[in-house]
Amino acid sequence: AVLIEDVHKSYGKLEVLKGVSLSVETGQVVALIGRSGSGKSTMLRCINGLEAFQSGRIEVAGHVVDQDPKRLRALRKDVGIVFQSYNLFPHLTVGQNIMLSPRITKNVPQAEALALAKDVLAQVGLSDKFDSYPDNLSGGQQQRVAIARSLAMQPKVMLFDEVTSALDPELTGEVLLVMEKLAKGGMTMILVTHEMNFARNVANTTVFMHQGKIWEQGPSRELFAAPQTPELQGFVKAGA
Ligand code: ATP
Ligand code: MG
Repeated sequence: AVLIEDVHKSYGKLEVLKGVSLSVETGQVVALIGRSGSGKSTMLRCINGLEAFQSGRIEVAGHVVDQDPKRLRALRKDVGIVFQSYNLFPHLTVGQNIMLSPRITKNVPQAEALALAKDVLAQVGLSDKFDSYPDNLSGGQQQRVAIARSLAMQPKVMLFDEVTSALDPELTGEVLLVMEKLAKGGMTMILVTHEMNFARNVANTTVFMHQGKIWEQGPSRELFAAPQTPELQGFVKAGA
């Protein structure tokens, strides 16, 4: 479902991705972990074409990723991304926020978009918030709406970049639970996270990035139980 081959990405003289290769099968969940600045967000942003890269090849859900506007539009219909900041439109209700993208980018008819919105809102456990405004929701609820908004596009692959990092600890769990449910439902997911327990327990594979490279990767439980490199050993021990 996702194929990344020898991707190099620089910002000016700063090489941020130094030859990254990774493949993710359909239905698999991959956690990206690593220190600040190791290139995790850049990797995700390259995968859905938010950033151009200088060399290498990325293919997602059958789309070759480059900066061609037409191909990018097609790609983004199939690849959802959720960030730390949820960026819901404050002047629209939860339901309207969710219906917007399917209506505008996929021309989904109103009645169908409405049914879809109700369905994805139920998936994140917020059926009763359809007519609420984002400001009246908790951070965790807003993030779950942001996930629902992505799901309304019926993506084949979902990318998550530290979606719980801005949340109070007591709100983190409800968002992780939604993601775990999605994973169990067979969604192909790549997620950047500082939640090591979540990576260990939910991700099939965990990838440790260090200095712009995939330093170490493996089945999550094995990787955490027996990190091979001193860098990952240090990272895990630091209680990340
Ligand atoms: P964090 O855990 O802090 O989110 P990260 O692993 O996601 O870190 P990236 O955001 O991918 O790291 O950044 C990798 C490197 O690229 C860093 O050195 C960062 O300063 C640099 N970088 C990121 N975005 C840009 C940009 N738009 N312009 C220039 N440099 C950038
Ligand atoms: Mg980041």
